[in-house]
Amino acid sequence: MKKLLLFDVDGTLMEESPTHTESFNYACRKVYGVETDIYSFPRHGMTDTGILYGLLKRAGLDDAKISVHINDALKIMLEYVKNNIKPEDYKLLNGVNTALKEFYDLGYTLGLLTGNIQGVAELRAEKAGISKYFSTGGYGSDSMIRSELVSYALKRLGIKIDLMNVYLIGDTPLDIKAARDAGARAIAVATGIYKIDELKNADLSLNSLEEKNKIIEFLKNQ
Ligand SMILES: [Mg+2]
Repeated sequence: MKKLLLFDVDGTLMEESPTHTESFNYACRKVYGVETDIYSFPRHGMTDTGILYGLLKRAGLDDAKISVHINDALKIMLEYVKNNIKPEDYKLLNGVNTALKEFYDLGYTLGLLTGNIQGVAELRAEKAGISKYFSTGGYGSDSMIRSELVSYALKRLGIKIDLMNVYLIGDTPLDIKAARDAGARAIAVATGIYKIDELKNADLSLNSLEEKNKIIEFLKNQ
């Protein structure tokens, strides 16, 4: 039976991207004319679209005003990242390269499942040299709701895989929730801001992807 592993990016595969983070403030200023502070906004595990709505609402804008220009804002964010990307924006976490290569060589289908805008996620993966492993993705530009990204990833993949054989690998309780809401399985890694004790309700919780063998054992028994 085919198994699909969908990886979150920030805190799971890579360190957070400073340029991507700054692009929220830039887009809000450029498109909506408001000053926002992304750094004080609790955003971990959220989609980029969801973060934009949250930030702009906090700055006093309503849904209608935000939605009119949301696609422009996403476009401006991507442009900003493209123009300013630097090595700190695609720094892989320990063990990631080895783990991805091994999952790939074992015949698992891999994809991205990230709150990042598609162009930003693809650019960072490309720069980090890991895009060759991924056959599909669901992105923060597809939907504001993280669990909905799973169906986008399956659609892009173009082959039928039962949700019981889809695994979301992420670093926050919102990744676990997205897996549950989508009917998929959850694997958590404590390489983001959450400790392993806070990620215990996943089907499998690990300290980091350096423990890839635990994932391989776990998948074998499914
Ligand atoms: Mg994350």
